[in-house]
Amino acid sequence: MNDEWRQTACILCTVNCGIEVKLEGRHIARVRGNKNHVSSRSYPCEKAQRLDYYQNRRDRLTTPLRRRGDGSFEEIDWDTATGEVAARLREVKDKLGGESIFYYGGGGQGNHLGGVYGAATRRALGSIYSSNALAQEKTGEFWVDGLLCGGRPVPDFENAEVAVFVGKNPWQSHGVQRAPVVLREIANDPNRALIVIDPRRTETAEIATHHLQVKPGTDAFCLAAILGVMVQEDLIDHDFLVEHAANETELFDALLAVPVADYAARAGLREEQIREVACLIARASSAAVLEELGIEQNLHSTLNSYLEKLLFILTGNFGKRGAMNLHTNLGRLTSGTRRSQTTPVGGHRIISGLVPCNVIPDEILTPIRSVSARC
Ligand code: SF4
Repeated sequence: MNDEWRQTACILCTVNCGIEVKLEGRHIARVRGNKNHVSSRSYPCEKAQRLDYYQNRRDRLTTPLRRRGDGSFEEIDWDTATGEVAARLREVKDKLGGESIFYYGGGGQGNHLGGVYGAATRRALGSIYSSNALAQEKTGEFWVDGLLCGGRPVPDFENAEVAVFVGKNPWQSHGVQRAPVVLREIANDPNRALIVIDPRRTETAEIATHHLQVKPGTDAFCLAAILGVMVQEDLIDHDFLVEHAANETELFDALLAVPVADYAARAGLREEQIREVACLIARASSAAVLEELGIEQNLHSTLNSYLEKLLFILTGNFGKRGAMNLHTNLGRLTSGTRRSQTTPVGGHRIISGLVPCNVIPDEILTPIRSVSARC
């Protein structure tokens, strides 16, 4: 084993913790957190310890494979593979136009380099339609982010007085810097609160100060009831809204009319739980909120994303320490959401440049005479 620790980053989730590795040939023999890393500060989760498995596992392809006529595969070298793929793609482009080439990829784990490289290839080919795993869950939230905030707001849980997780279990899934450390710090501090809205008693819910154990699929009732309390009890940040919001009258009218007790009951919760949580979020000096797949792959996902964002917008928890702040790197994901581009076959809305995953088979298999972007 080479005795030198080398600095790199874990790419298994979007947090991208700084790590150091020791190598044994092409194998990652040892992994530890990089104590000098500005955000992860020596923390790696258990997944990083398995990096060598992802890098060098037995069934990982080490050369390109070409399918033979009988369905079996043969190994070929890289020059042959890239040459043949390029020639075939050029053939399709010349015959049917680059817009008939659909690109799927670039949204895997915390390594989005595939998306960057893919964009260059697509430009060269003239390919205009693409998708990836993000279109299964995230585009609804991206759309709401773009319209409400003009970009992607990210939470500052390390400094938040109140942390709210909706359909999210960072103890397991991470997506939050030094998740277990930060969650424990919040939960153990009598001046802070950890609020979890989730039907499951997850590890995060287990240590939460407030667990709203909603009935599956009723998150919209729970979130609307919390917002209803905020508006009805006048707990909202008027100064923030005067400066940063517009056309809120219609929203306030709708929230004033929310029957809080009824919505709480529909969500399987006690009214007092809703009222307590609403007051906690609204009265905190700072609050940060994060949603995840629990609501994004559930009923009314886009409505839930909208209501979830209102929790921090109505309380002025935006653009300050311990609250929500605009992300720079993922800005592009929300920038295309105002365009009304649709798919060529079904006319389905394309959000953040991604064709919805559930319509991809129909879009590919339905013969049409010519493909053109509907913008
Ligand atoms: S939280 Fe875990 S999986 Fe995510 S980047 Fe850090 S070490 Fe990797």
